[in-house]
Amino acid sequence: MHEYSITSSLIEIVKRIIKEKNLINIERIDIELNPLSSLEAESIKFYYEFLTKDDDVLRKAKLKFYKTSISIRCSKCQKDYKVKSFPARCPHCHEFNVCKDIYDDIKIKSILAETG
Ligand SMILES: [Zn+2]
Repeated sequence: MHEYSITSSLIEIVKRIIKEKNLINIERIDIELNPLSSLEAESIKFYYEFLTKDDDVLRKAKLKFYKTSISIRCSKCQKDYKVKSFPARCPHCHEFNVCKDIYDDIKIKSILAETG
């Protein structure tokens, strides 16, 4: 259910970009997903197809997801390191770290399209 509202706001943003840039044929939408978020790429795809089924421009677009890497601080040795998923093992002291502040973050990286 959470993905549903995220996906609808994502579509609103894409629609705005389409209008601004006068795009006619959307091939692909590249999306960056925060690895700490609980968002499922598959669910977003599912809702995207559902929400754009009557939209001739949007329904043809393929969604591609990228997981961004983020920096976290090890709870044991306090050194920073980059992770893409959790639980993560600290490369310095090999402590397992789990994420404490989970927040959902999704961002449009780029849109591959033709202009009209
Ligand atoms: Zn450590």
